Amino acid sequence: MTKRKASLALVAVLASGCIATPPTNSQINTAVRERVVNQPPANASPAPTAAPATNAAENFVVNSVAVGQNALLANNLGWTFGGKSQRGWRLYTLLINRMINTEENINTNRFAAALARWQQGAGLAPSGVLDGDTLYGMISVWQSRRIKDRIYPHPRQLITAPASEFYDPTREVELRQVEREAYNAYKRMLAAAIADKSLGLQTTANNELAASEKRLKIISSFRSREYQERLRRLSPGAGRAGLAVNSPHFTGRALDLYVGGDPVETVDWNRAIQVKTSVYKWLVKNAERFGFHPYYYEPWHWEYIPQEVK
Ligand SMILES: [Zn+2]
Repeated sequence: MTKRKASLALVAVLASGCIATPPTNSQINTAVRERVVNQPPANASPAPTAAPATNAAENFVVNSVAVGQNALLANNLGWTFGGKSQRGWRLYTLLINRMINTEENINTNRFAAALARWQQGAGLAPSGVLDGDTLYGMISVWQSRRIKDRIYPHPRQLITAPASEFYDPTREVELRQVEREAYNAYKRMLAAAIADKSLGLQTTANNELAASEKRLKIISSFRSREYQERLRRLSPGAGRAGLAVNSPHFTGRALDLYVGGDPVETVDWNRAIQVKTSVYKWLVKNAERFGFHPYYYEPWHWEYIPQEVK
């Protein structure tokens, strides 16, 4: 593989959801990436002989300095996303907890111990400190669980979802298309969220989301290359300038769902609101059961990957 091809392949794997700013090659230690990608997902059933994760995690004796380091790095770790400086990893705490199979607070020894166990499995030094290498390793794992192709669905595979299921019910009919399997999975997931009374979703008599309820409604689904190009031309300004050239929305299996805050705004303060909402927390815990995987950088962006191709 030529260097250019290799770099394109990496970009294809890492290509983002709504914005196109993957980390560069130099930011990803390929060896780390390969090791961590081969780890089973956090929710995979443990082998019958394996000790429960929490017990195994307790076997790690983590230097108490690690706890203080994590508290600092959660807010201050410098890293880059597509050439843009980022600060800290606190926005990804829920996803990190899921990855390392713990619900412990980041300021605890147990969190550091669970992290050390994950680091060891990923071939990293089991320091219990969530440093840059560890974060990039986790990002590689998250990115490996996303839609790889950018192939348009056959028109027969696209359905038009009702306007009432969209965050903006006036959205044009051609922008309400969703790949059929992804739509069915979304509806199953939505029914489960509605049944979970702790979310308090407002519903109609038919148990659909009420007009007044915006949460978990679809913001954006299938987008054609032509539409994406138009969006890019219309929004040359900061933030939107990075709209993906090669979006997973082309497949009709990527859904932007309303989780709170400003619907699709990546600034940290907005994402900080979004990752604290009950529906986002619910999605992190439950979406995978329905075949939906997160895009770590955009709390609203979820990608459907049929169970059989995982
Ligand atoms: Zn998206």
